[in-house]
Amino acid sequence: MKYAVVGGGIAGLAAAYDLARGGDEVVVHEASEVVGGKLQTELFAGTQLDAAADAFLARRPEAVQLCEELGLRAELESPAVGSSYIWSRGALRPVPKGQVLGVPTDFTALRASGVLSTLGVLRAALEPWLPGKPLGADATVGDVIRRRYGGETAARLVDPLIGGINAGHTDRLSIDAVAPQIAAAARRDRSLTRALRTSPAPAPGPVFFTLPGGMARLVDALVASITAHGGEVRTGAPVASLDALDADGVVLAVPAYAAAPLLESVAPGPAATLAAIDYSSVTLVAFAYPDDAIDRSLDASGFLVPRPEGLLMTACSWSSTKWAHLAAPGRFVLRVSAGRIGDERAAGLSDEALVAQLRDELALTMGVRGEPLEIAVHRWPRAFPQYAPGHLARMAEVRAALPPGLALAGALLGGVGIPACIGTGRSAAARLRGEESAPSR
Ligand SMILES: Cc1cc2nc3c(=O)[nH]c(=O)nc-3n(C[C@H](O)[C@H](O)[C@H](O)COP(=O)(O)OP(=O)(O)OC[C@H]3O[C@@H](n4cnc5c(N)ncnc54)[C@H](O)[C@@H]3O)c2cc1C
Repeated sequence: MKYAVVGGGIAGLAAAYDLARGGDEVVVHEASEVVGGKLQTELFAGTQLDAAADAFLARRPEAVQLCEELGLRAELESPAVGSSYIWSRGALRPVPKGQVLGVPTDFTALRASGVLSTLGVLRAALEPWLPGKPLGADATVGDVIRRRYGGETAARLVDPLIGGINAGHTDRLSIDAVAPQIAAAARRDRSLTRALRTSPAPAPGPVFFTLPGGMARLVDALVASITAHGGEVRTGAPVASLDALDADGVVLAVPAYAAAPLLESVAPGPAATLAAIDYSSVTLVAFAYPDDAIDRSLDASGFLVPRPEGLLMTACSWSSTKWAHLAAPGRFVLRVSAGRIGDERAAGLSDEALVAQLRDELALTMGVRGEPLEIAVHRWPRAFPQYAPGHLARMAEVRAALPPGLALAGALLGGVGIPACIGTGRSAAARLRGEESAPSR
């Protein structure tokens, strides 16, 4: 069989990896000059630094399993620190103990953290006593959290965490797609606090892994395996029409707005559904500073910024503290994010203006002063699909309506994380080979 994979991001490469190893002919068509999509690594401040994704969840099996197969398992590194902060009410405050994706379960710790006002804590602490019904159909995360815990918890804790992962707004994101563990708890009990307190504790072990050398290590290892099995990875090869592909089966592993026009003539219904998916844009700016540019200790993985604070930055990762392999004497490295759905300010600024404003905000939040040693700006337009309520059901319908020989993969299906994207790539390969496994997302 001859297969074509459109899109050389992690999902497309994972699909091609399985197809090539199965002994079939496979060609990956990647539009840009480099493979990897949002997995890009470059030399910065004397180290290999990721320009977008820099870690993956260790508690989902797909990425760890793939690294195992590729001989990278022994290299996986977990964060050197476990704590982080939230910039809230004018100070960096610890993320309260006991929270699950920002949803509080320990109101004493919530109060001690100072993230919310006293009234905000009192409103949240009423949750176990509030009347109500367990969650029914899919809803937005914001609806569920605001109703149970009030607006402050929604805006200052849950939106920075769950909205942050998706560069979205919890008032628009499907709870089933972006927080399935919270959705499951909300369906078990009218009180979400009670349900979360009695949920089984996650397995011990690291929550995240990275690869020293960056995510490009994973991309390079996949490309090496695909080519070693006779497959081909073409760059600078945009696909404008499925008719142009000489293949018995095609995996479409591109963003929804790129998949839609390709599907229009063969599957107009799915094409219209995909075209309606909104995307948010983000910008990531890396800074290296000399050690004497700051007085405070960098004792956490970084901090998140809730929308009501009004800052341009949405998060700041203390990268050289978080990952041991990025540490070096004499300097520290920060990765500052800006941009989320409904906030296009960063996209509208020149690099110079963007950097100037982020430097002001680093001074405000962390007391960073003086000149950076190095700066790198990475813009990721239309990078994060926004899963509106009902997204998972719509994607199931889209998949079911595709003609045989065509499969979809990637973040558009319902999970932005690297493990989810790998899972969709591998199940797309299985679908084309007629070994349909349970659909992944
Ligand atoms: C700044 C940032 C930080 C992130 N951090 C993390 C993180 O720490 N952990 C994590 O798990 N996830 C993270 N993510 C999310 C994750 O990186 C992505 O969701 C995931 O990599 C998407 O993979 P994909 O294969 O679905 O799509 P992509 O990586 O977008 O790949 C799709 C590819 O298709 C190509 N393409 C598009 N149209 C065509 C066409 N017509 N023909 C041929 N090729 C085409 C594109 O050029 C692209 O290379 C982050 C994302 C961003 C932007």
